[in-house]
Amino acid sequence: MKARAFSYARPSTIEEALDAFASAGDDASYIAGGQSLVPALALRLQAPSLLIDLAHIPSLRGVELKDGWLRIGALTRHCEALADPLIARHAPLFSAAAPFVAHPAIRNKGTLGGSLALADPASEFPAMALAMGAELEIVGPRGARRVPADDYFVDLFQTAIEPGELLVAIHVPAVAERHRWAFDELARRRGDYALVGGGILAEMTGDRVDHIRIVFFSVGSTPVRARQAEAALTGRSLIPAAVADAQATIDADLAPPDDEQVPAAMRLHLARVLLGRLLGRIAEPA
Ligand code: FAD
Repeated sequence: MKARAFSYARPSTIEEALDAFASAGDDASYIAGGQSLVPALALRLQAPSLLIDLAHIPSLRGVELKDGWLRIGALTRHCEALADPLIARHAPLFSAAAPFVAHPAIRNKGTLGGSLALADPASEFPAMALAMGAELEIVGPRGARRVPADDYFVDLFQTAIEPGELLVAIHVPAVAERHRWAFDELARRRGDYALVGGGILAEMTGDRVDHIRIVFFSVGSTPVRARQAEAALTGRSLIPAAVADAQATIDADLAPPDDEQVPAAMRLHLARVLLGRLLGRIAEPA
């Protein structure tokens, strides 16, 4: 199948992009890396009359450390998340997740902003943005705002981005020496979407957990924080009994869908296994 005919705009500023969207009466789509949108156009799952190409807007690019936050421009590509030294140091869950996202050809084009805007619940980057307590900078006709990741994911493929608004950047509170983190996922084959994946960011004093964020993906309609597991670990040493207590909360924290390929009970089992592995990794200082 081929995409329906569409017009094409190539703005060079955010304002031009917003104006182009408004001029199409909202029958428009922004396109970044095109790795999700182009297949959707080809299958006619989406058929906008205007495509607005974001690739030539310089203010959507760049990675910058300022005042304890790492600003990652929305057009930062998956392959850059893999290689950028600032991301590796201050937003390490993005770097750790990047090799698990699709394949090199897709990582060379796909952008972090596109992944966060799409918000596929099986995607790595949205979940890691939540695990790191990121804030999403969104600009629209009514101005700019920063939305905490905890409030950003609304439902399946639905975020706080309103029609016509642009995701400009991802702001991550800079991960420092005192943090420990771990990422992993369980998939049938490398490069496949995960059956279950997860990431942890923790602040610890010795082996005691002072603060922890635990996020799973591929377990529901959005990435999910395992808040009861977080509570079971906070203030405790990461001894096997604490890990077992956290694993025991998983059934209450997660409500994965039941399907024939991957029954809910299997995803819950995999999430418990993954949590044990991730906690084992942060228990050993790097
Ligand atoms: P696009 O395809 O250009 O856009 C996606 C959507 O986001 C569109 O609706 C677009 O309008 C909107 N959008 C894009 N940028 C913005 C912005 N700045 N502001 C507002 N809206 C915006 N992803 C994974 O996470 N894990 C995987 O394992 C994985 N495997 C894949 C395997 C294959 C074979 C393919 C084709 C894709 C796979 N993907 C996977 C998806 C891939 O990572 C996508 O590239 C990414 O999710 C979307 O990024 P993009 O820049 O290509 O966005």
